[in-house]
This record gives sequence, C-alpha cells and structure tokens, in this order.
Amino acid sequence: MVLPFGCQMNRSDTERIRTVLNSMGLEESESEDDPDLAIKGIIACSIRQKAVDRVYGKIRNWNSSKWKPLTFLSGCFLPADGEKFEALFDFVFPIDLASKLPEMIRERTGDDFTNSISLPSGEFADSDVMEKRIESFWQLQPAYSSGSEAFIPIQNGCNRFCTFCAVPYTRSREVSRLPAGILAELRYLVGKDYRSFTLLGQNVNSYGHDRKDSKLNFAALMKSIGKIGRETGKDFWTYFTSPHPRDMNGALFDVIAEYDVLAKQIHLPLQSGDDEVLSRMNRNYSVADYQQVVHEIRGTLPGATLFTDIIVGFCGETDAQFERTLEAMREIQFDMAYIAKYSPRPGAASAGWADDVSREVKEQRFAKAGEVLREIASRKKREMLASKQKVLLCGRNEQKGYFSGYTEGRVPVRLALDAVNAKSAEKNVENRSRVGEFTTARITSTGSLSVEGRML
Ligand code: SAM
Ligand code: SF4
Repeated sequence: MVLPFGCQMNRSDTERIRTVLNSMGLEESESEDDPDLAIKGIIACSIRQKAVDRVYGKIRNWNSSKWKPLTFLSGCFLPADGEKFEALFDFVFPIDLASKLPEMIRERTGDDFTNSISLPSGEFADSDVMEKRIESFWQLQPAYSSGSEAFIPIQNGCNRFCTFCAVPYTRSREVSRLPAGILAELRYLVGKDYRSFTLLGQNVNSYGHDRKDSKLNFAALMKSIGKIGRETGKDFWTYFTSPHPRDMNGALFDVIAEYDVLAKQIHLPLQSGDDEVLSRMNRNYSVADYQQVVHEIRGTLPGATLFTDIIVGFCGETDAQFERTLEAMREIQFDMAYIAKYSPRPGAASAGWADDVSREVKEQRFAKAGEVLREIASRKKREMLASKQKVLLCGRNEQKGYFSGYTEGRVPVRLALDAVNAKSAEKNVENRSRVGEFTTARITSTGSLSVEGRML
C-alpha cells in the first residue's frame, strides 16, 4: 500500500513506485488495515507543515499497531525531517532511488522477493549522477491509477528559490526529462485512448533550460504534442502545472492556440498582489508584469480559464498588502485559486524571518480570499448557464445519480445519470463504459466552483 500526500507530482511518483512493488510480486491492497500487508509507504509532501504533521501522525499510528509490516517513506521531505523519519520508518529514500527498494529490503531482511525487478538502463550522454537516477526513475513504466487521465512528469526540482518554498531543498535543482521519453509515454497512452494528460514539473516553462540542446524548450515540447494529436487524429486535452510567470512567453500561447489537443486552461501562480511582498518572496515579477502575461493569454487564448495560487499571511504582510491581493484577484478575475496560509518551511529563506502574522489573522485572510474567489468564480460560472460544453466523464455515483467530469477549462461538472433507468443493470454497464469518454452537455445550473448539466 502506498499513500501519496499532497500534489499531483506525488501521485505521479506513486504510480512509478507501484511498478517497483508490483515487480516484487506484491499487489496493492485496498485497505491500510489488511493483515496480509507486507509493506506500507508514504510519498510525502513538505510544501506545508500540515502535510508533514500528517506523515508523523500516520507513522506513529502504524508503529503503535500490534502487527507491523515494513514501512517506507519517499517523495518530498526536508533533510532535517529525513533524519527524524529514519528513526520511524524502516526505509527512507529519495524518489529517484525508488527502483533500489527491492535491494534495500533484501539487505535489511534477507527477504528475496521472487520477481526482483530489472532496472532500466538508459543511455545518458551528458548527465551527472542525479540526472541519471531521475531519468531511470522516469523510465519505469507507471502503474497508472486511471484508464483515461494521466500525469506525465517532465521535470524534477527547481532553480528559482522563492523564499517561502521547500522544493529546491526537497527535490534539488531542475532536471528536464528527455523529450523522447515524454513523447513515447504520451504516444503510448494516446494509443490506449487516454483523454487527458497533465505535464508535471515545478517550473514547467523553464523546461529544457538545464540541457545543452538550445532547441529544447517548453513551447517546442508542447508543439510536438500538438503534432502527435494531428498525426493520430485522436481527441485529448493536454494540461500543464505549474509554470512560473517570469518564464512565460507569447510563443507558448501561440502554440496552445494552434492545436486542439492543447487545453485552453492556464494555471499561473500569482502568490501575492503586492509588489513589495512579491519581492520579498523572490518571485522576480511585479503585479504589472503578471497582468501583462494575463493580457497576452487573454489576447491569444480568449476562452481560456485562468487558475492561480495565492499565499496569505506571508511574513510581514500588512492589511493593506493583503487588500492589494484581493484587488488583484478582482481585477484579474480568476476562474479558480488555490489559497494557502503561509507556513514556514525549515531551510527556505523565510524560515529565518519572523512569522509575524498571527494564526487568527491568517485564518481571517484565508476566509476573505476564499469569499472573493467565490464571488468572482460564481459570476464566471453563471456565464456558462445554458451553454453547450464538451465534458470529459471521469467518475460516476450510482447512488446519488450523477457522473462527475470537467470541461476543457477544468471546470468541474456534474451530469445527471438517466434517472429512470439508472438502477437497471444494463444502464449501469452503459454508464460505466462511458467513464473516460467525452460527452456533450447543456449546463443547467451553476455554483461558484462547479456547474451542473444534462447530457445531450
Ligand atoms: N512552482 C509553483 C510557483 O512558481 O508558484 C509553485 C509550486 S508549489 C510546490 C505549490 C504551491 O504551494 C505554491 O504555489 C504556493 O502557493 C504553496 N506554497 C509553497 N510553499 C508554501 C508555504 N511555505 N506556505 C504556504 N503555501 C506554500
Ligand atoms: Fe517553489 Fe515554485 Fe518558487 Fe520553485 S518556482 S521555488 S517550486 S514556488
């Protein structure tokens, strides 16, 4: 059993770790309390202290149970936490060493899992050890958790050193995955009729900058994906997360506009609407720079939805500075915002500064920013009322009688199942087979963050 904590990158890493475990002859269990479990693991997230606390909670719980299988921890963790985790887990290793897990187990327990895996042996022209290790990790064939949507890692680590962020310390410097591997994985999945791909990295639009090949860049990678769409004639949507506003350029938007398989949805973290706070965050852009990028997006991709990340209560953030974040949210009119309360991360530069916005004020700002988001987002969703939308069906709830899915702009949609026949066995089979497919729907009601409709 492997539990991913946190972001999509961790869920993607989990799919590759499952391959390692499957290759050892182990099968995934549905339940953490299954008495036959041989090994339990966590793919940790260190973006916020809350996620780290969850790891401590979970392992203490596992360790205090009467019967205890082997435990491991990987993913994003800070060196300081790593030392503490070593005392609590049987194995703690960086994600790029996941394929060594069978060897680690053998050394520790003498247990020889029968189908010990063969490690991929890539050809690496100009790579250092770290780069080789992460490339071999990427070469593992993932045990995908969905038959229609996939995360595809394109990069690991980050060179930007925003002062609040743990990533450069948990995942180290940027390494871009070679395009051949990315495109081969995507082609394979397109061949299996996958409908939605999300390219993953911490700063995806600096993709390729660490490689010697000057032609390698994010817009070129996206163009290659667009061409795969045209060549194969398959229908799919390609998303990416997260880019950095500083590394955005118009060439990328032109490419997205050119190809149908490149989804018209942009996730562009703003973090704060105040220039002084942005500067202390080491974001390297001003609110005006950010708005210029938004202007380009809306010029080239008029129907695209815009998502963002916001941090409230960063060190020294005054009421007036927070108000400017709300103003920016209102001006820019985001379709969605992931709002976080600042928490200091050991190792990141801001951890040495006073975390001087009280918990109470952070809570108030968090609630206020959520309110503003819902205000803006409800208005934008109302514009969808009565419109016809293409929807990817990704799940269904037979009891409650609906399909869940999303539009190209990643707006969540609920569509009523056929109410009269929903309970018939035949209808159930039909409903099940539609999950993973596109459908067309008429939007019949709207909320702040999602909409409802009926299939046409
Ligand atoms: N690379 C992206 C960017 O440039 O903004 C961000 C990736 S980060 C892994 C995901 C989000 O977590 C950030 O956008 C930020 O809003 C949030 N985050 C990161 N560090 C945080 C901290 N110390 N406290 C609260 N939220 C944090
Ligand atoms: Fe963290 Fe994103 Fe900044 Fe990199 S660019 S340091 S991942 S917030």
